Amino acid sequence: MKFIVDNNVGRVVGPLRALGYDTLFINPVEDGLMVEIARQKGRTILTKDTGIFKRRLISSGEVPALYLVGDDWRQQLAQVVRELGLNSEPSFTRCMACNTPLDEATREQAEPHVPPYVFRTQESFLHCPGCGRYYWKGTHWHRIREGLERILDSGG
Ligand SMILES: [Zn+2]
Repeated sequence: MKFIVDNNVGRVVGPLRALGYDTLFINPVEDGLMVEIARQKGRTILTKDTGIFKRRLISSGEVPALYLVGDDWRQQLAQVVRELGLNSEPSFTRCMACNTPLDEATREQAEPHVPPYVFRTQESFLHCPGCGRYYWKGTHWHRIREGLERILDSGG
């Protein structure tokens, strides 16, 4: 399942990528273009704009869209996971910042880009070929995982 996320619910973008889902976010994006991208690329629209649901492609069901309830992004994320039956365990296969699939990086590649303490204590690193960020599997990801678990537990 792939997503395109409307500007009004952008806080769910990073967490969905952490869960491993291909999540496109263009800011700003015009409604018509967003619907067209969703149609062409088989993406589900996430939005809290009721106007989009009046469009023929959406009301006919040709392009799937989910209306996110409320203003709290944590509850919105929990809603997406629950209603679309998503995997709720982070996979960390995709850059949270730019959506590019991550590559394994060697320690030598990572060294100039991560804090010295992190380099000394972490074994494995991932690199985003899209934006150049480095990720590591230690405390960084534990924090994200625990945060997501809390949100998903309390959001239902
Ligand atoms: Zn990136």
